Amino acid sequence: MPVSLLGAAEIRRLAADLDVTPTKKLGQNFVVDANTVRKIVHAARVEASDRVVEIGPGLGSLTLAILETGASVVAVEIDHRLAARLPETAAVHGVADDRLTVIDADALQVRSLPGEPEVLVANLPYNVSVPVLLHFLETFPFLQRGVVMVQAEVGERLAAPSGSKVYGAPSVKAAWYGAWRLAGTVSRQVFWPVPNVDSVLVGFERDAEPRGSEELRRRTFEIVDAAFQQRRKMLRQALSAVLGGSAAVASETLERAGVDPTLRGEQLSIDDFVRIAAL
Ligand code: SAM
Repeated sequence: MPVSLLGAAEIRRLAADLDVTPTKKLGQNFVVDANTVRKIVHAARVEASDRVVEIGPGLGSLTLAILETGASVVAVEIDHRLAARLPETAAVHGVADDRLTVIDADALQVRSLPGEPEVLVANLPYNVSVPVLLHFLETFPFLQRGVVMVQAEVGERLAAPSGSKVYGAPSVKAAWYGAWRLAGTVSRQVFWPVPNVDSVLVGFERDAEPRGSEELRRRTFEIVDAAFQQRRKMLRQALSAVLGGSAAVASETLERAGVDPTLRGEQLSIDDFVRIAAL
């Protein structure tokens, strides 16, 4: 039996049945348009042989579109009512039960995933999109690529090159793991309820080799945070506390790393930050 997708009327009926009123607190804006979920799955190049992890499956719109390709899905959902209903929705729509595993949990707390999925596909809850992405990339080294829907502002930031206006700490931290790209825009009208922000798709591919040890990553992120906490200050000033306690010592370290101490954080690439951290 082929997998069928959820329609707008069925989504509202399911929500009513479960007594779910979408909440802002959990970033619950459900996609009610089949073309949009197929577009996301297409952008993520999901194939039948893939093992996919989805964060926040909600009522299952995107989950079914992923399952339609033949791929298997591990879905992590914090809302118990939604997590409990998803297997039944999938079964009704033609999914064999060995292809979907639902984890009823906060994605920020999840530390293991069955089957080591290599692809992440999600319409992320907006309030935790960046922390949840970084947590997954850090905790699950088997995750190789993915496409996520996020608030436009966040997506542009994640994919921003150094020197651009929106480049910030999330851009550098995301770049630690691999390459990011904008992969399309999504109309507000495909959501229920309609959000008051625009959304985009962002794709990533993890680098073939990790940039360095966990210790180096922590040190790099600490320096990135310090650089962007005072983004208008020159690096020798902004990094004085994390690089030896004075502007003079910070300048010396920056110069040894081949970085001009009078630059600002937004002008540095991930490679520059890693060189500073390595010292
Ligand atoms: N994937 C569905 C769709 O596209 O219609 C729902 C997307 S909705 C933007 C975000 C989903 O993430 C909601 O189902 C919400 O309950 C869930 N969620 C929110 N915070 C979460 C967290 N910390 N861990 C796991 N799921 C979460």
